[in-house]
Amino acid sequence: MSNFEFLDQTIEKWKQSGTYRPLIDLESAQGAKVKIDGKEMIQLSSNNYLGLTTHPYCVQEAIKAIQQWGVGTGSVRTIAGTFSLHQEFEERLAEFKQTEATLVFQSGFTANVGVLSSILSEEDVVISDELNHASIIDGIRLTKAKRIIYDHSDMDDLERALKKSQSARVKLVVTDGVFSMDGDIARLPEIVELCERYQALVMVDDAHASGVLGRSGRGSVDHFDLHGKVQIQVGTLSKAFGVLGGYVAGSKVLCDYLVHQARPFLFSTSHPPAVVAACQAALHILQTESVWMEKLWRNTKMFQSGLVQLGFDIGHTQTPITPVMVRDDALAIRFSNQLQKEGVFAQGIIYPTVPKGKARIRTIVTALHKEEELEYCLEVFEKVGRQLSLI
Ligand SMILES: *Cc1c(COP(=O)(O)O)cnc(C)c1O
Repeated sequence: MSNFEFLDQTIEKWKQSGTYRPLIDLESAQGAKVKIDGKEMIQLSSNNYLGLTTHPYCVQEAIKAIQQWGVGTGSVRTIAGTFSLHQEFEERLAEFKQTEATLVFQSGFTANVGVLSSILSEEDVVISDELNHASIIDGIRLTKAKRIIYDHSDMDDLERALKKSQSARVKLVVTDGVFSMDGDIARLPEIVELCERYQALVMVDDAHASGVLGRSGRGSVDHFDLHGKVQIQVGTLSKAFGVLGGYVAGSKVLCDYLVHQARPFLFSTSHPPAVVAACQAALHILQTESVWMEKLWRNTKMFQSGLVQLGFDIGHTQTPITPVMVRDDALAIRFSNQLQKEGVFAQGIIYPTVPKGKARIRTIVTALHKEEELEYCLEVFEKVGRQLSLI
């Protein structure tokens, strides 16, 4: 008997209900195709939108940085772990985002937690979309501010929440820029207008919009031309950027405050040189090689229209995130397993990641996929969809 009997019992329950998922090992680099269990499969489950995880320039810059600066930084940013590399990258990133400043965190997750947990007090209110990412939810859990959740992208419900919060010192409305399970874009122009009317601040988490939306992938604020109207932008360097990290883009005051108060920034070691150099290289690629974003969107349109023509329900996505709705949890897992047998890797997403009855296969095509590969995926989706009577 292990000491962890109490955990073991829960794991047994997951196994019985079919929701227990062992980790899957990739035996190759991330790409349009990956090797899993010795077999090549077309990868439709990564966030490697632009293929930058293996871009030769990013790889080369990372290697150069290791040779010059070593593999680690040996300290947190605030003690002795800020290198000129970190500062230069933050300056370039601020120019790109057209904000006064940026501050890089270890991940998008810690950026959200760091901001939300440090800027609000018990006199404040945070108003959050019900489908916001787990890291926003956890950040909110760590504040003493009052919390209000509004129905997904429901502007009337958001207005109700703002009306109820008039007496608060600070009202902060938080939303994903692109919602990670459905691929829809936040109604940012309306959110900004409401926030101006009720004197609230806006925070947008652009994890899935960074490198995907806006000019050269500047994100949802640029996509809607709302520069200067969104006070806090969070982005990730782990998805389309292809590396690792998160950042806050906003005013100098905000970033200066976070340097002194954001706990993941203060108490966890800074990015290794290779990571920073690869991020800098990815930023350069975004601004000089527009082919990747163009290919990403061409592939997205082709794949989505193919799925719709076959009769699949892909929800109301507006971005490369493409849910193929299956609804039933067990069926979603079967669907995914069948796809894998045919050489297509696309994970089923089930409760509790999505609500009950909304299980789906979640796919993201990348700029690296060839048209023939996506045509093959569509054939396999058709075959499996028919076998399981989904189309
Ligand atoms: C992935 C994601 C994050 C976390 O980003 P990491 O850099 O992977 O930690 C935060 N917010 C949203 C909306 C995401 O999709």
